[in-house]
Amino acid sequence: MTEVQHRTHPEPLVDARAQLRRAVDVLGYDESVYAMLAAPRREMTVSIPLRRDDGSIEVLTGHRVQHNLSRGPAKGGLRFAPTVNLDEVRALAMWMTWKCALLDVPYGGAKGGVRIDPRLYSIGELERVTRRYTSELSPILGPEMDIPAPDIGTDEQTMAWLMDTYSVSQGRTVLGVATGKPLALGGSLGRLNSTSLGVVHMSLAALEHFGMRPGIASAAVQGFGKVGQGVARFLHNAGLKVAAVSDQYGAILNDSGLDIPALEHHVEQTGTVVGFAESEAFLEPSELLLSDVDLLVPAAIEGVIHGSNARGIRARIVVEGANGPTTGAADEILDSNGVLVVPDILANAGGVVVSYFEWVQANQAYWWSIDEVDRRLRDRMGAAWLRVREHADSHELSMRSAATALAVKTVADAHRARGLYP
Ligand code: NAD
Repeated sequence: MTEVQHRTHPEPLVDARAQLRRAVDVLGYDESVYAMLAAPRREMTVSIPLRRDDGSIEVLTGHRVQHNLSRGPAKGGLRFAPTVNLDEVRALAMWMTWKCALLDVPYGGAKGGVRIDPRLYSIGELERVTRRYTSELSPILGPEMDIPAPDIGTDEQTMAWLMDTYSVSQGRTVLGVATGKPLALGGSLGRLNSTSLGVVHMSLAALEHFGMRPGIASAAVQGFGKVGQGVARFLHNAGLKVAAVSDQYGAILNDSGLDIPALEHHVEQTGTVVGFAESEAFLEPSELLLSDVDLLVPAAIEGVIHGSNARGIRARIVVEGANGPTTGAADEILDSNGVLVVPDILANAGGVVVSYFEWVQANQAYWWSIDEVDRRLRDRMGAAWLRVREHADSHELSMRSAATALAVKTVADAHRARGLYP
């Protein structure tokens, strides 16, 4: 076994570049296309001095990476997590480029992050971090330059502070500078649940692909945050038995199916899935990934399915709610075991699709009904599913290789049409 196959620490940039390499090879492009797309167009690293509530000063580090700007402004989430580092942000920005291209959303990819554990800071401190980060980044942000959205550890309140800070610096209200904002600030109906809904549309399409009815299918969901909680709820509503869920504090199981509405109530009261009455706890939370279910949705962090546990995955379908949850080594194992992996750049694209709808609505100052948003989301995700399936079938590729190739082709076409300046 190679060193890579043993790797359990996520190295998302290694995986992202390997996926790009494969797509460039599949498409028969030359090395210059790889070189153009492997490196981000623009990066900014900033120091964020924070006055803590006790008067002490702490200096945090923040990043923003704009991977590609060929098809429009840069777009991507802002993450607050203690594990944030520049290479992770670079990988996430590259995946955003492919996601936007695949879903025909007119943006390039970007990602931002601040190395901070938000649970250890007060609301006031998080507001000051967000505002200083925005202020430092303001030369490269804007509705026609780079448009952040929520990700791990950030939410619509973070986007409201970001939008306000940017607007004050411009002397006017700029609704289009961020998406995932509260409805009162030009947010879109349906944005909050859009990533989860998209994941569930893709999960149902994958079940149908195998001729499996939702009413007799079972699922496990890793992560119970903005994405995972909605996924569990919508799968439950679609008739699936959601047998196992987890968060960073632990994992729980009920073979007969968890009562998701009651679990949501429990999480609202306690802040964790752990201790839910009608369930047992897994001794080792990562065992959730090995559950005997039809559908597995990793919706937490990168690199959780790796060379050392991929052989134990019993689900027939893996739908990537998280970005980069499967390492390259694991991908090969799952593929050879006949597991259908619906890749992140397709599976969790519902968030950026409705972010795009939010930006369009804000720029037109005209808002759509929830039915309109949900219908457009379902249509766009359904069309992307069909394109990727057709390409995978006709070229005998995995869904990840097919999706990445389609996306890379779209971006490379834009590059080629613009030409190289000077
Ligand atoms: P979040 O911060 O709202 O939730 C993250 C969840 O993961 C929490 O429940 C946390 O407890 C859990 N978690 C963290 N470490 C864990 C571990 N080791 N095991 C099990 N659970 C763990 O973040 P989110 O917005 O739900 O994002 C989750 C994933 O989805 C990320 O990969 C993110 O990049 C991706 N994503 C999010 C969006 C979006 O719209 N929020 C869109 C596309 C992709």
